[in-house]
Amino acid sequence: AALVAGSIGALAEVMGDTQRAAGATERLLELLSAKSPVQSILVPEKLPPRTAQGASVTLENIAFHYPSRPDAASLSQFSLDIRPGETVAIVGPSGAGKTTLFQLLLRFYDPQQGSIKLDGVDIKSLDLHTLRDAIGIVPQDTVIFSANAMENIRYGRINATDKEVIAAATMAAADDFIVRLPEGYQSFLGERGVRLSGGQRQRIAIARAMLKNPPLLLLDEATSALDAESERAVQGALEAAMVGRTTLVIAHRLATVQRADRIIVLEHGHIVETGNHASLVAQNGLYASLAALQFNNGLE
Ligand code: ADP
Ligand code: MG
Repeated sequence: AALVAGSIGALAEVMGDTQRAAGATERLLELLSAKSPVQSILVPEKLPPRTAQGASVTLENIAFHYPSRPDAASLSQFSLDIRPGETVAIVGPSGAGKTTLFQLLLRFYDPQQGSIKLDGVDIKSLDLHTLRDAIGIVPQDTVIFSANAMENIRYGRINATDKEVIAAATMAAADDFIVRLPEGYQSFLGERGVRLSGGQRQRIAIARAMLKNPPLLLLDEATSALDAESERAVQGALEAAMVGRTTLVIAHRLATVQRADRIIVLEHGHIVETGNHASLVAQNGLYASLAALQFNNGLE
C-alpha cells in the first residue's frame, strides 16, 4: 500500500475516521492538492534545537471563525501559554472549540487575529513540514491502513527501521498484542485483515507518535469506554508517551485530567475556567458540572 509521509500523515490523523481507512491516501492527496486555506512562505524560519522537556506553545489573543461561517466565532480572545514539558488537559462541552484549537496548531487554518508560537517562533513563518514534523497526534479514532502492522506503525516516520518500529510499539504497549497476531508484525490489518479493538488502534496511534518522537503531542482522547485491560494498557502507553514532551490532551477521562499539570475549561470558544481538578471542583462552575455528568458516569 502506498503510505505517504509528512503533512498527509498529520492530515490523515486529524481527520481520523475509520470509515475512511482504506483508500484514504488517494482522497487525502486530492484534498492536499485542493487550494490550501493557509499561505506558504518563501523563506521559512527554523525551530530552535529541541530541548529535553519539549516545546513551548504560546497562543496570543486568537480570534478564529471557519471561512464558511464568518458570523460564528469558534475561538475568541483566546490566549494560552504552555511551558515546555507541561501536560494541559482541555475539557469543555461539544462545540466549545477543542478540536478547532488542534486544527489551528497544525495550521489547517490560520486565525483571523492573534499569533501562535512554537518555541517562540510564529508558526506562520515555518514551513508546514517543519511544523507538522514537530507535532505528534493521537486522534480519537485512529486510521488503520490496509497494510501489515509493521507498515501501519512505520507510517509515523516513513524511514524508520523495523527495529525502531518494534521499539516504538513496545513503548506504546502495542508490541504485546501484535506479537500474538497470527503473523506478528507481518499480519495484515484493516478492513480486509485483522480488525483491531479501539484500545489496540489507539496503541497503534501512540506507537506512530513515539516513532515520530515530536516535542509536542496532541491527544484527542477516545470518548468510548475501553475494556479494562485496554484501558490500563493505553493509560500506561500515554504516560510513557508524555515523558520529555509537551502534551495537550482533549480529555474525557477523570484519570487524565487529574494527571494533567493544568486543566483548561473551554466554552463557546473562550477559556472560562483554569486550574487543577480540586480547585475547579471547588469553584463549582462548568468544570464541576461536567465532572459530575461525565466523569462519574461509567467512565471510571
Ligand atoms: P469541540 O471539539 O469542542 O466539540 P469544535 O472545535 O469542533 O468543538 O467546534 C467549535 C465550533 O466551530 C462549533 O460551533 C462548530 O460547529 C464549529 N465548527 C467546527 N468545525 C467546523 C467546520 N469545519 N466548519 C464550520 N464550522 C465548524
Ligand atoms: Mg471535537
